[in-house]
Amino acid sequence: MTRIALLGATGSIGRQAIEVIEASPDLELVAAASGTTAIDGLAPLTQVGGDLTELLDRAEPDVVLNAVVGFAGLAPTMWALEHGVTLALANKESLVAAGDLALAALERGGGSIIPVDSEHSALFQCIQLGEPESLVVTASGGPFRGRTRADLVDVTPAAALAHPTWNMGPKITIDSATLANKGLEVIEAHFLFGMPYDRIDVVVHPTSIVHGLVRFRDGASIAHLGYPDMRVPISYALTYPARASTPVPPLELTTLEFFPPDHDTFRMLGLARESGVRGGTYPCAYNAANEVAVAAFLTGKIGFLDIAAVVEDALGRVTGAPAQTLDELYAADRAARDAVQLP
Ligand code: NDP
Ligand code: MG
Repeated sequence: MTRIALLGATGSIGRQAIEVIEASPDLELVAAASGTTAIDGLAPLTQVGGDLTELLDRAEPDVVLNAVVGFAGLAPTMWALEHGVTLALANKESLVAAGDLALAALERGGGSIIPVDSEHSALFQCIQLGEPESLVVTASGGPFRGRTRADLVDVTPAAALAHPTWNMGPKITIDSATLANKGLEVIEAHFLFGMPYDRIDVVVHPTSIVHGLVRFRDGASIAHLGYPDMRVPISYALTYPARASTPVPPLELTTLEFFPPDHDTFRMLGLARESGVRGGTYPCAYNAANEVAVAAFLTGKIGFLDIAAVVEDALGRVTGAPAQTLDELYAADRAARDAVQLP
């Protein structure tokens, strides 16, 4: 029996995780947490709001499935890494923000990270076949693929929330529309797989059938394919190295299309890469400024194109100095949020 603590149990990933756990006799939900939404009776230990690390101390899980959204996922990520508890990671923001501090905790704790993000689950599976030379992360392109900047001046939150292939929480759906999600994923791949940024490519693939591809030194490439359904990577992360059955149908092959990303229209992708290459707490600042900008867009305070402008401006106002401690990381996150100036 694998004892699972599910953080973010009421969200898009959380609800699908409950479905996966309930379908498997080998998985046991011992603790569940949300931010504000009630979740009574789901697990022996259930918590709304409050300190997630205290809940984990009491739950003693084998696996922490971190499906909290945003920087609020940092503390449970660090708890799992420090305690050597397997981290099934949906909350990419925590790894992007903590970077080297997270990897040092992973090393100290001696546990492992199994990615839940579909592209990274795909890459994780492909790299078990050999040492990768380079990685390809696919992007659906979001609801605004093919649009120009002029087309996007007045788009509404409702239009940005209508994702073509994935049904997800609001923050990541906006991140998918701006390509910030793919930017965060490039940084996530850098830290998960130790791959330099110039060997992580992004390609737009509108139907989200190919999730990731790994190129090897002998000229072979291995790709991971499947219908876009998060129950597959969630199930894989919770049952790894075994595979459980899911209700997802076997893949029927059809025409697959790939395009380069439009960096002029979707500047959040390039800004993420620049932040990653600059290193230090620039990825933390990118994530923090993006969280503030997305919240401002969703509440009608700024336009869609302002998201990238606001983040770029904020990145110019922070020092990006590396964090040696978690306290310094929290301070860098705070400084980046404070550096955001809304137009
Ligand atoms: P949702 O917005 O649907 O859900 C977020 C969850 O986090 C909710 O359960 C929410 O609780 C909880 N939460 C928020 N803040 C706190 C807090 N301070 N303490 C405890 N719980 C909190 O998000 P998603 O499920 O879409 O995404 C979750 C994470 O997974 C994100 O990092 C996202 O990038 C990643 N991810 C998501 C994918 C998807 O398909 N949805 C795909 C790949 C990655 P409440 O309901 O009370 O607000
Ligand atoms: Mg993803």
